[in-house]
Amino acid sequence: MIHKSILLLFLSIFSNIANACLNDDITIDTQFATARIGHCEQINDKHIQLTLLPENTPINNSPWFGFKISAKEQKQVKISIKADGGKMRYRPKVFKDNTWHLIPFEKHDKDISFSVNLSSEPLWISAQESLNSLAYHHWAKAHAQKSFLNHDIIGWSIEHRPIFKLESRAKSNQWLILVGRQHPPEVTGALAMLTFVDHVFSDTAIAKTFRKRFNILVVPNINPDGVYHGYWRHNVAGKDLNRDWKTAMQPEVASVVKYLDGLVENGGEIKYAVDFHSTYKDIFYTIPEDYLSHNHTLTNDWLDKLEKTLPEFEVRRKAGQNPNRGVFKQFIADKYKVHAVTYEMGDNTDRALIDKAAIEAAETLMSTLLSKQKQ
Ligand SMILES: [Zn+2]
Repeated sequence: MIHKSILLLFLSIFSNIANACLNDDITIDTQFATARIGHCEQINDKHIQLTLLPENTPINNSPWFGFKISAKEQKQVKISIKADGGKMRYRPKVFKDNTWHLIPFEKHDKDISFSVNLSSEPLWISAQESLNSLAYHHWAKAHAQKSFLNHDIIGWSIEHRPIFKLESRAKSNQWLILVGRQHPPEVTGALAMLTFVDHVFSDTAIAKTFRKRFNILVVPNINPDGVYHGYWRHNVAGKDLNRDWKTAMQPEVASVVKYLDGLVENGGEIKYAVDFHSTYKDIFYTIPEDYLSHNHTLTNDWLDKLEKTLPEFEVRRKAGQNPNRGVFKQFIADKYKVHAVTYEMGDNTDRALIDKAAIEAAETLMSTLLSKQKQ
C-alpha cells in the first residue's frame, strides 16, 4: 500500500508540472476535473506539442485531452497533439459562450494540429464536452425535486467518489435498469443517457404510465474517478469496468451488483437494461434473440419502432454474446435471464440528433415494454 501511495503522490506531482515544458509566457492548467494532457513540449514560441498518455496499457484507443491555456500577451499558437501508442480519435473543442464549439483542425496520419488565439483569459480545450461529476450532480439534483424520485448513493469509487442512483418506484416488482459512463471519454453516450432519462422521468403521458408499471433504476456515472482524471478507459485500478461484471472485483461494479442483488432479494424482477457508451458510429449491441427465450424479440421490436419513428437516424444493430467477457449486457442476460443492450452513440454524431434519438428511443422502449407486459 505504501508503494502505491508513493506512486500516486509521484504521479500527482508529475501531473502538476505540465508547465515545465513551456516558456514563461504560456500557461497550461490541468488542475480541474476531466483535465488531462500527458507530456508537453514547446517547439518554439508559437508551437506546442502535446503527447497524450493513457492511465495504463494495454488500452482501447480513446486518447482524451482537456486543458486550459493562456498567454501573457495575445498571440496565435499552433497546438499539435499526438497519442502515445495510439492515434487521435476526438475532434478538438473549445468552451465559449457557455457551450462547446468544434475547433477547425488538420488531421495528419495519427496526429492533429490546430491554431488558437491566446490571451490572458484561459481557453478551455477538450476532446469532447466536459461532463464531470458536478454536472451530473446538478442534473440529478434537478430531477430529485420531483416527489417520485429518490436520489441516493449506492457505493463509492476507489478514490471515494460517490456512485449515485436516481430511482422511481412503481407498485409492481418489474425493473428497468439504466447505467452509463463506464468509459470516461464516451461523452456522446452520456449525453444520450441524460436526455433518455429526462424523458423517462418527464410528465408525458407514456412516461407517467410507464412509471406506474415499472420501477426505474438509473446509475449514470459508474466511473467517477476515471471521469475526474480524464482517463481513456479504465478505473483507478487500471481495469476496464465493462469487462468486470462477471467477477465484480472492482468496487464501482460491485456496488451496482450488490444493489441489484438487493432489489432481487426483495422480490424485484429485472426486465430490461440499457448501458450507454460511445464508439465510432451509432450502433446498438444486442443479445442474440436465440440466446434467451424470455421476451426474445423485445430488443428488435423496440429498435424496429425506433427506426420507423426516426428515419433520419440509422439504427444499426449487432447481436453478440460472450459469457466470459464481463460485459454489462451479458451479465444482465446471464444473471437475470433477460435481454439488454449496449446503446452506442458515434463520437461525432450531431448533438441535436443524439437528443432527438434519445427521446424517441426512450419513448419507443417504454411503449415496447408496456406492450410486452400486457401479453
Ligand atoms: Zn464503452
